[in-house]
Amino acid sequence: MVHERVGQTGLGKSTLINTIFASHLIDSKGRLSADEPVRQTTEIHPVSHVIAENGVKLRLNIVDTPGYGDQINNEGCWDPIIKYIKDQHSAYLRKELTAMRDRHIQDTRIHCCLYFINPTGHSLRPIDIIVMKKLSEVVNVVPVIAKADSLTFEERDAFKEKIRAEMSYHNIRLYPFDTEENDEEEVQLNESIRNMIPFAVVGSERSVLIDGKPVRGRKTRWGVVNVEDEKHCEFVYLRNFLTRTHLQDLIETTAQIHYEAFRSKQLLALKE
Ligand code: GDP
Ligand code: MG
Repeated sequence: MVHERVGQTGLGKSTLINTIFASHLIDSKGRLSADEPVRQTTEIHPVSHVIAENGVKLRLNIVDTPGYGDQINNEGCWDPIIKYIKDQHSAYLRKELTAMRDRHIQDTRIHCCLYFINPTGHSLRPIDIIVMKKLSEVVNVVPVIAKADSLTFEERDAFKEKIRAEMSYHNIRLYPFDTEENDEEEVQLNESIRNMIPFAVVGSERSVLIDGKPVRGRKTRWGVVNVEDEKHCEFVYLRNFLTRTHLQDLIETTAQIHYEAFRSKQLLALKE
């Protein structure tokens, strides 16, 4: 399972991943805890970690991307990210073409790209639209409104609605996709996810006391946010979606849609 997180610096990307997996997988500089050397945040940097989810062990690779869109000229700032995703497809294809049948191929393909949207409450930035569009052609993109505690509930709802309208206007094809194999229940689940996207989330690596009990949360000007409370933010929905309901589908969609598209293009080019 490989995740990639994309968005501006300081939007809470490292914090959110650590909150989802309830451990300190990466520090704020994108390092895998203490045993990794400090890296420049200008490079794309995968870290690998084994997690246990529902008793199933899963190798999770998290790719920390440098904040982009911070410069005055953002032209081409997404190229390294797209290239990284395609490089993983390309490496997989090479192994597939040379590996003996039935031999296990190490999979570094990106299964999900969490796209962090600035909680401005206004609209997407033009660069968000360009980058999400490009990303959605090569990877499963899941947009999230970062640091949602900086918006009121009314602002959040209006912002979510606005973003959905903009994405649909710009024909950004967002995960999850419906396929003919989906049963009624899956179709409904996907529909409910699409109606919730972008997930308005809050991350925290610290505990705060609520009614004397420590919970993952943040103190804000409106009081204490309990990250795991559905009435406070959509963190729990995002976590369920990523680690339970759509885990397998993220992997399958990557292989059957994104990788397959890459593969047939490459093989066609070889023939010409
Ligand atoms: P990154 O650069 O996107 O990886 O951002 P970090 O995860 O390093 O977080 C940057 C800062 O934002 C830190 O001070 C975090 O404590 C803070 N932060 C992270 N998540 C949230 C959030 O959901 N709400 C608020 N208010 N602050 C957050
Ligand atoms: Mg970070």
